[in-house]
Amino acid sequence: MIPQETVNRVLDTVKVEEVIGDFVTLKRQGANYLACCPFHNEKTPSFTVSPARGFYYCFGCKKGGTAVSFLMDHERMTFSDAIRFLGKKYGIEIKEEEETAETIAARQKSESLYIVSEFAQNFFAGQLESGEGRALGYAYFKSRGLEDETIRKFGLGWCPTDRYALLNAARAAGHKEEYLVESGLCIKTDEGKVYDRFHERVTFPLHSVSGRVLGFSSRTLRSDKSVAKYVNSPQTDIYDKSKFLYGIWFAKQQIAKEDSCILVEGNLDMISMHQLGLTNVVASCGTSLTVDQIRLIKRFTNNVTIIYDGDAAGIHAALRGIGLVLKEGLNVKVVLLPDGMDPDDFTKTHTLEQVRQFIADNAKDFIGFKADLLLDEAGNDPLRKAELINDVADTIALIPDAVKRAVYTESCAQKFGIAQEILSNRVYRTHEGVLEEDKRRWERERADQERRNAQDSQAAEQTETRTVQLDGATGKKTVVKPSILEPVEKDLLKFIFTSGLDYMEFTKDNKYYTDPPMTVAEFIDASLQDDDALFEEGPRRRAYDAYFEYYDEGFSQDEILRRMTSGEDQEIVNLVVELTASRYELTEKNLRNSMTKPMTILVQQVPRAILLYHVKRLDKQLEEYKAQLRNPEVDAMMIMTEIAHLNEMRRKLNKTLGRN
Ligand SMILES: [Zn+2]
Repeated sequence: MIPQETVNRVLDTVKVEEVIGDFVTLKRQGANYLACCPFHNEKTPSFTVSPARGFYYCFGCKKGGTAVSFLMDHERMTFSDAIRFLGKKYGIEIKEEEETAETIAARQKSESLYIVSEFAQNFFAGQLESGEGRALGYAYFKSRGLEDETIRKFGLGWCPTDRYALLNAARAAGHKEEYLVESGLCIKTDEGKVYDRFHERVTFPLHSVSGRVLGFSSRTLRSDKSVAKYVNSPQTDIYDKSKFLYGIWFAKQQIAKEDSCILVEGNLDMISMHQLGLTNVVASCGTSLTVDQIRLIKRFTNNVTIIYDGDAAGIHAALRGIGLVLKEGLNVKVVLLPDGMDPDDFTKTHTLEQVRQFIADNAKDFIGFKADLLLDEAGNDPLRKAELINDVADTIALIPDAVKRAVYTESCAQKFGIAQEILSNRVYRTHEGVLEEDKRRWERERADQERRNAQDSQAAEQTETRTVQLDGATGKKTVVKPSILEPVEKDLLKFIFTSGLDYMEFTKDNKYYTDPPMTVAEFIDASLQDDDALFEEGPRRRAYDAYFEYYDEGFSQDEILRRMTSGEDQEIVNLVVELTASRYELTEKNLRNSMTKPMTILVQQVPRAILLYHVKRLDKQLEEYKAQLRNPEVDAMMIMTEIAHLNEMRRKLNKTLGRN
C-alpha cells in the first residue's frame, strides 16, 4: 500500500505532457499539446494534453484522465504501479506501508507475471558473472563483438544447462510455480514435471514501451540441428508478440527526435546498431509486421527505413508484409545491404559515419524498390511484366495519401515505359476497392462495438430491473432503460464541475432569489434534496458525492477537482475530465438556444438544467409504472392515478421550460 500523502506528492510533481510524451509524440499547439489518439485509430489528431490542468482528453473516443489514468489505460498498470512508475521517473521515494497477506494475494495475476519476469531477468543477467554463464554465454556475446556496457544495457543473460536452475532459484525466493509456468519461463509437462524453458541458452529480455520485462527470446549455442535455434516466450497475459517490437524502450526517444525509425530483423542486428551509435533502431524479431507493430511505430514517427540482408530470399519475404505499412500511411524506405551481409556484420566492418552514409545513399522508396526488383526478374517475358505492373499498381493503391499515389504512379509508369493512364486507372480502381474493404471492416467493427454496448446496458438493465421487480413484486423481467437520466445528470455535473463555487446572482423579483446568494453547487444540491432526488447508482452518483465531500471541507474548486482526479476511481476521473474538457457544450438543444437574454448563463441555464432533470426523472417513473401495468396482479386503478398525477407534474414542468 502506498500512503495517500506519497500519492499526492507524486501527483503534484508529475507533468502530464512528459509522461504521455514518453509514449506518444506530442506537438505543441498554444498552451496545449496535440497528437493522434493512441486509444483509437485516426488520421487527424483529436487527442489533447493540457499541461495547465494536468489532463488529457480525446475528442474522438472521449477517453480522458490524468497521467496516472493514462498509464493505467495505455500500459495496463494498476493504480499503485502507475504511482511507483511515476515515483521512479521523478525520483520520488515511494515508502510503502506493510502489505498484508491478503493484499499480496489479491494482486492481479499480470502483476505477478511482471514480478517473476523481473526476477528471471536479474537471475539470467547474474549468470553471466561467473561459472558456466561466464564461460559460455558471456564468451558468446563477446565473440559477437558486444561490449560489457552493451551487455548490461540490454540485460543480456544466460539460462543455465541445469534444467531446474531458474525454477529452484525462483522457488527459493518465494515465487510461485504457477506464475513461472504462466509466464512461460518454465514448462509443465502433462506428467506434471516442471523445468526451465530457456535452459542452456543465451537470453534477451523483451522490454515493453515503458521498460518492463514482458518475456524473453533466447538462442542456443549448440550447433546440432536437433535443438531449436531460437526459443521465445509464448503469448501470455503480459506479452503479445504481435504488438511487440524489440528495442522500442531503448529507441523510442531517438525515433521521435529524428522523426525516423530504422527497422531490422534480428535482436543482435538491433543491438549492434545501438552499440555503434544508431539508436533509433528496433527489430521485428523475424516475423512480418503486424498492424499493431506499425501503430506502435506510428506513435513516434511516420518514417520507417527497413534494412534487409542482401540475399534475395529475405527480400521476397519482406515484400509481402509491406502492404500493411503503406496502408497505415507510413513512408517506407528500403535499404539493401551488400550481398551476404546482415546488419550485424555490416556494423562491425564499418564506422558509424560510414553506416549513416550508406543508409542515406541507398535508401530507396519502397514502391520504386519493388518495381525495380520485379522488373529485373520479369526480364523480357511480357506476361510476367503485365502481372508485375498490376502488382505494383495494387501496392500504390494502398497508400492513403492521394498526392503520394499520383507521384508514385507517374514515376512507375515511366519506369515500365507505359502510358500513365493505364497505371493510374488500375491504381484508382484498386484504391476504391481498398476503401470499400476498409469501410466494410469499419462497419463490422462498429456493429461489434454496438453489440457489446447493448450487452453492457442489458447487464445494467438487469441490475436495475431487480429494484423494479421488488417494488412491483412481478417476477417477470421489466426492461428499464438505464440511460434516460445520463444526459441530464451529466449536464448538472458539468455545471458543478465548471462553476460549482460561482454564485447564483438572481434578481430580487426572481422566485429563486436568496440572500445571501447560493453557489451553483448549493443551488443544485438544495433542489435535488427538495425532491429527495438522488443520481442513479454508479459513477455519476459517486462523482457527485465525492464533489460534495470535498466541497464541505471548504476546498477551492481547483483543489476539489484535483482531489477527485487523484483517487483510484477512474470512472470519476473520466467524468471530471470529460465534463470539463469544453466549458458550456450542453446536451439539450434548448439550453444552447436560450442564451439570448442578457442574463448570466448560469442564472438562466442552471435552473433549466434542474427542471429538465426533474422532467427526465418523471419520465423514468412513468416508464416504471407503465411496465407495472403489464402485470395482471397489480392494482391498475391506483397505478393509472399515479400516472395521471405524474403526467400533470410533467406538463407543468414542461410549461415552465417553455416546451410541450
Ligand atoms: Zn481517441
